[in-house]
Parts: sequence; structure tokens; C-alpha cells
Amino acid sequence: MPRVPKWLGDAMESVLASKYLTVRVSSVTLLTDTLCQLNLSGDFQGLDFHPGYAIDFRVNDNDFRHYTPSAFDAQEGTCEILIHLHGNGPGSDFISRLKVGEVLKMVIPRGRKLYQPDHQFHFFFGDETALGLFKLLREEIHAADQHYTGVLELSEENLALPARLGMRLKTVTKNPDDPGRYAAASLHAMKTGYPHIFHQGIFYLIGNAASIQHVKRTLRHMGVAVKNIRTEAYWMKGKAGL
Ligand SMILES: Cc1cc2nc3c(=O)[nH]c(=O)nc-3n(C[C@H](O)[C@H](O)[C@H](O)COP(=O)(O)OP(=O)(O)OC[C@H]3O[C@@H](n4cnc5c(N)ncnc54)[C@H](O)[C@@H]3O)c2cc1C
Repeated sequence: MPRVPKWLGDAMESVLASKYLTVRVSSVTLLTDTLCQLNLSGDFQGLDFHPGYAIDFRVNDNDFRHYTPSAFDAQEGTCEILIHLHGNGPGSDFISRLKVGEVLKMVIPRGRKLYQPDHQFHFFFGDETALGLFKLLREEIHAADQHYTGVLELSEENLALPARLGMRLKTVTKNPDDPGRYAAASLHAMKTGYPHIFHQGIFYLIGNAASIQHVKRTLRHMGVAVKNIRTEAYWMKGKAGL
């Protein structure tokens, strides 16, 4: 439900008031020119949260956009989100304008539980929009004494970000004319380095729908079972909201 008439957006805020949280912006940090770390505080007592759950912001009168917390502490009342400022939509504009101390409405976290705790080996593929989810998954994986690797396709200015965020992941430059191409091309070399992950691991493909398709096709050709591939498209070229 990315776009609704204004009257419906207003009605939802009052009729479904229990689904909305009031949050305060505690910090807005530009990690790079196009990647923003947003920290929020609020009363999150009693909320259920799992990696992969997403919140929504109403970014203007008509549009809602989803974002995935990269950290969420219901006891402390804190929430962190990593947001790609791609500069071409109302969600990106809304986040760019946020100021410390501002009070917002946020739809409570909900969605699919992505972490698959029964697997020892986890493989991440995604772009800037998936960084927050992978940061959180990495913490679950470390806590369970499991292992991860993966490849991210990023704009030039963000290539060093995963390492700055403490993630050991291969990075490739994104190719807007052929999404997923460089990441897919790197998979064969990665299989040589980590054959056990390709045989027994679980693959999380998150972000650009076209890149996910490309990488999934390559993984299937490499013999990865479809049951070991989790996908979630976060955006699609030319489509507003998802
Ligand atoms: C469950 C879920 C969780 C998500 N979590 C996150 C998150 O944690 N962090 C995050 O940054 N994003 C996240 N997203 C993606 C985010 O909601 C989309 O990128 C959304 O489209 C942004 O809205 P917008 O108004 O800025 O652009 P839109 O109005 O939706 O799109 C305008 C144009 O920009 C293009 N576009 C949209 N996103 C991108 C992008 N990232 N790069 C390049 N072009 C783009 C669209 O294809 C369209 O042509 C998530 C999406 C889903 C479904």
C-alpha cells in the first residue's frame, strides 16, 4: 500500500492508531553522501521484532515507504535504520529533510522473519537498501556462532561502507545497465573459496528486483537448491514504493 488518497492516509492514522508509534529523531548521520543512519527513540515496550521486519513512514500526504531497522531495542526504546538516499523519490527526500528532535509517526515493525537459525552458513547479496538488514543478521549469526559471507553491489561512494560497519563482505560496483551482473560474475570465485556455503548455506537476496533475478538465476545454474534461496525485492526500477 505505498500510495493512498490523503483522506485514507488520515483515516488510517486515527482508526488504526494502535499500529502507529510516536518516535523522536535522536540522530541523523550521513555515513556517505547517499547513505543515512537514522536513530529514533520511542516507547517500544511489548513490540515483537525480528530481523527482516520493516517499519513504514508516511513520507507525504499520499505515500508510505518501508524501511528495515538495522537495530531495534524494545527495552531501551531505540531503533536504527540505514537508508539509501537515492535522490529520486518522496521517501528519499523525506529522510534527507529530517532534523534531530523532530517527532514522527512510524508504523509498527512487521513482516517476514528472515533469519534461518538452522543453517550454519549464511550468504548475503544486496545493495545499499539491504545494508541495515545484513548488519542485523550478522549480529544474530555471530551470537549463534555461525558464519556468513556475501557480495554487495554498491555505488562507488559506498564501496567501503560494509567494512566501516564491521561486515566482511565482498563489494562490487553496481552496473545500472545490467543489474546484478558483477555480483553474479563473482560467485564462481566465491564458490571456490567457500564451497561449504554453496552446498549447505542459506542465501538472502535483498534489494533491487532485477539484480535479485540475475543472481538467483546464476545460483540455480550453480546448483544451489531453490529452498536455500530467500528473496525480498525492496525496489524495482521505474516503480514507486514496493
Ligand atoms: C520490506 C522493505 C524494507 C525496506 N528496507 C529498506 C531499508 O532499510 N533501507 C532502504 O534504503 N530502503 C529500504 N527499502 C526500499 C525502499 O522502501 C525503496 O527504495 C523505496 O522505493 C524508496 O522510496 P522513494 O520514495 O525514495 O522512491 P520511489 O518513489 O519508491 O521510487 C522512485 C524511483 O526511484 C527508484 N528507486 C527506488 N529506490 C531506489 C534505490 N534504493 N536506488 C535507486 N533507485 C531507486 C524507483 O525504481 C523509482 O523509479 C525497503 C523496501 C521494502 C519493501
